[in-house]
Amino acid sequence: MGKNSITIEDVLNKLKVKRTSQREALIRSAYEFSLMAHAGQKRKSGEDYIQHALHTALNIAKMGMGSKTIAAGLLHDVPEDTTYTLDEVEKKFGPEVAFMVNGVTKLGKIKLRGTKEEYYLENLRKMFLAMASDIRVVIIKLADRLHNMETLSALPEDKQKRIALETMEVFTPIANRLGIGEVKGALEDLSFKHLDRENYDKIRKIQEEEYAQRKKYLDRAVVELRKELTNDGIKVLDIFGRSKHLFRLFQKLKKHDMDINKIYDLIGVRIILPDISDCYAALGIVHKKYRPLVGRIKDYVSLPKPNGYQSIHTTVFGPEGKIMEVQLRTRQMDDEAEFGIAAHWIYSDKNQQSLRHLIFGNKGKDKLKVPEKELAWVKQLQDWQNELGKDDAEFIESLKIDFFKNHIFAFTPQGDVIDLPEDSTPIDFAYKLHSSIGNRATGAKADGKMVTLDYKIKNGQVIEILTVKENKKPSRDWLMFVRTSLAKSQIKKAFKK
Ligand code: MN
Repeated sequence: MGKNSITIEDVLNKLKVKRTSQREALIRSAYEFSLMAHAGQKRKSGEDYIQHALHTALNIAKMGMGSKTIAAGLLHDVPEDTTYTLDEVEKKFGPEVAFMVNGVTKLGKIKLRGTKEEYYLENLRKMFLAMASDIRVVIIKLADRLHNMETLSALPEDKQKRIALETMEVFTPIANRLGIGEVKGALEDLSFKHLDRENYDKIRKIQEEEYAQRKKYLDRAVVELRKELTNDGIKVLDIFGRSKHLFRLFQKLKKHDMDINKIYDLIGVRIILPDISDCYAALGIVHKKYRPLVGRIKDYVSLPKPNGYQSIHTTVFGPEGKIMEVQLRTRQMDDEAEFGIAAHWIYSDKNQQSLRHLIFGNKGKDKLKVPEKELAWVKQLQDWQNELGKDDAEFIESLKIDFFKNHIFAFTPQGDVIDLPEDSTPIDFAYKLHSSIGNRATGAKADGKMVTLDYKIKNGQVIEILTVKENKKPSRDWLMFVRTSLAKSQIKKAFKK
C-alpha cells in the first residue's frame, strides 16, 4: 500500500449524509465492482487503480454528496478504462448511477486546446456545464480532477503543464461558480505548483515563515476571543486560526508590490456561531476587544458575493498590536463556502429538490425556503441561458442544467469554439467562420474523418472544412439541410449576385 492509500471505510467515515444500511450497501457494492473491473491496473504513479476511484469517492463524500453520486464516483472510469460496459453498470446499479458515469465519461473528452482567449475559455466552461447536464456529474468530475492533480507529478512534464493549465482555466472557475471554495482553492494551488514552480516555492516559503512567526499571537487571539465571547453569553461553535491559499496569496502580493506587510488576511481567525444575530453580536465584541481598522469591515451576510459566499470579515489590531483578519459566520455559511451547491443538499431536507424550488423558494408547490441571495450561481446559469434565448421550461423542471439543449459547440482545428443550433451541418459551421469559406466548401472532416456536408455535428467535435481556392458558388441543394439562418441567407445572397 502506498503512503496515501485509503480504503472504502475511509470513504464511509466521511459521509455527511446519514449513514443508512441501504446507502452503505450501495457504496460497498460499487466499490467491489470497481475493484474487480480495475483489477491488475496501475496508475502512472504505480498505485493500484482502485486508489484513484477511492480518492475520487472520498472527495465526493467530503463535498456532502449522497450515496448514488459516491457510487458513480467509484465507477467513473469503468466504461472507459476496463472491459466492463456502461450497460453492465446500468444493469447492476440502475439508470441514475449509469447516467452519471456516462456524463463523466463524456466530459473526459472535452479538452483545452491551443488558444487561451477569454471568449473561448468561457465557451469551454459553458460547454462543460452544458454537457454535464446534471450538476452531480460536475461534482464527480471536480473530485476526479482533484485527485488527478494531487498525483500529477507522475506524468511527463508537458502533460503536467497542459493538465495544470486546463485545471486553472476551466475547472477552478467552475468550482468557484458553484461556490465550492475548498475545492477551488486546492485545484488552484496544485495548478499553480505545476505552472509556475518558482513563484510557488517562493510563496510557500513566505507563507511558512510568516505563519510560524504569527502563530504565537494567533493562538493567543483564539484564547482571548473565545473567553470574551463566552463571557458575553455568546455560544462559540468553533474558533480556529486559518491561513490563506497559496495562489490567492500570490495574486494579492502581486497587487501589493510583493510586500507581505501589506497583506492583512494572510492568516486570521474564523469563528463559527449558531446564527446570524450571533455573528453581528460577536462582531461588536471582537471590536470591543481589538480595535478595528477603518474601512476593512466587509458584510457579505447582508450582501453576499455573486457566487453566494456569506461571511462577515473584519480586520483588527490583535494581540501585540499585530494586524489580523477575523471572519464570522454560521456553520451553514461555512459549509456552503467550502462545499457550495453540495451543501444545499445537506441543508435542505429533500435531497432531490428541483431547481424550481431552488430558484423560486417557497413559491413552488412544496414549501421549501431557500433564500434567493444564496442562489446567485443558479441565476448565473439562468443568465447564460437567457443570453442564448432558450426556453427555460425544462431547465427549471429538474435539477438538470441542460439549458443548452438544442445547442452544440464544435471546435475549429485551431481550437476556436463555434456554437451552433442542434443538428447543424458542416455548411452551417463553414458560414459561421466566414461567408467565403461557406461558399468555397467542398468537403468536411469531423474528428479527422471525412463526413458528408449534411452530416449532423455532435457536441465537442473538431470540424475541418475543405475548400477550393478559386471563388465558387455554393450549391442550391444545401438549402435543403442547413440549420442556421445565417447559412441560408448567405447561400441565397451568393445566387443573387
Ligand atoms: Mn478518473
